[in-house]
Amino acid sequence: MDACMSVEREVDKVLQKLKDTATHTGESLEEAIVQVQAVARELEEGGYNGDVNVAQSLRLSQCLKKVQEAVNNLSAIHKDRHGSVSKVGKAIDRSFVSDFGSVLTDSAFDKELNVQEINQVIYEHFLRQGQLDIAQSLITESAVPVSDTQQEPFLELHHILESLKNHNLEPALAWAGANRKALEGQGSSLEFKLHRLHFIDLVSHGPSFQLNALNYARNFAPFAASHAKELQVLMGTLLYMKQGLDHSPYSSLLDSVHWLEICDIFTRDACTLLGLSVESPLSVVIRAGCAALPPLLNIKQVMQQRQCSGVWSAKDELPVEINLGKECRFHSIFACPILRQQSSSLNPPVRLVCGHVISQDALHKLANGNKVKCPYCPVEQTLNDAKQIFF
Ligand SMILES: [Zn+2]
Repeated sequence: MDACMSVEREVDKVLQKLKDTATHTGESLEEAIVQVQAVARELEEGGYNGDVNVAQSLRLSQCLKKVQEAVNNLSAIHKDRHGSVSKVGKAIDRSFVSDFGSVLTDSAFDKELNVQEINQVIYEHFLRQGQLDIAQSLITESAVPVSDTQQEPFLELHHILESLKNHNLEPALAWAGANRKALEGQGSSLEFKLHRLHFIDLVSHGPSFQLNALNYARNFAPFAASHAKELQVLMGTLLYMKQGLDHSPYSSLLDSVHWLEICDIFTRDACTLLGLSVESPLSVVIRAGCAALPPLLNIKQVMQQRQCSGVWSAKDELPVEINLGKECRFHSIFACPILRQQSSSLNPPVRLVCGHVISQDALHKLANGNKVKCPYCPVEQTLNDAKQIFF
């Protein structure tokens, strides 16, 4: 952030200077043109016939001098501005690290499969954003193997989301109706909330829409038991159709935040249903990378300065802990209390019969023959009694 600010300061300086230059240059040129025009007029009036007399010659050289001065002045200003612009370039070089090679795993792009997977993630990201033409170009150029069935859910989601953003509920309602059972299964109230938005929209149109609103209320029948309280509130709004909802105790229902909320709910529930991640994996990776790179580059520099760069040789493990914040935390991790190491697929956590959990390596280290004694309570058991735990 500091880096961006310092570059922005330089850019602001240049912009201000360029603005001043534009005004100044305009004025100087205008002045020079006026001078030249005046001399031309004088020559004409004095009966110019190809030869200039002494007075005219003096006048001409005076004018030439002035124009020359203006041109010199402008060229000096231009040089100065050029210096300011190149300062921005230097500020960018100074503030941002361009060499990330030191923290790269060289083999990351070696395998054909890895490249294909990266292309696939980029392709899916563009599909999610609705940038179909870019996604299509990527398929053609990189030969990502994509079937139509892979594309369809993204296209459908995008179409529905776009409609929701334009306050058109129809496609979302049709989708929610068609997937009602599955949505109910995952405890989603998406369909109810979509109907609620439509109902409120009808009520807000005033008394002439009373019958439409009442008829529409039939759509709430399947939700009578699960959303009784909310339905009571909705029916209460009918009392205020005449005087307008915005001056009623129900005015909060008109808040535009409900439209933003429904987009979020739809994205979350639809992605869960289709087995997709709510956020684009590419955005998540880039966000995590932006947070992780500065500390990694710092530690690398410190290691090089102290000549201990060999310390970080294990490329699948980071030299420092990097806190990516809650939004980048997706699953629990387990650290073995005995070995003080994070569990991995090769060394998974295991549960002992007493309920205590340690890592598999720790279990084997503690074993005495086929018997093992829990390090926290004296319960004894056989090695086979320990069960692997999956987070
Ligand atoms: Zn125990």
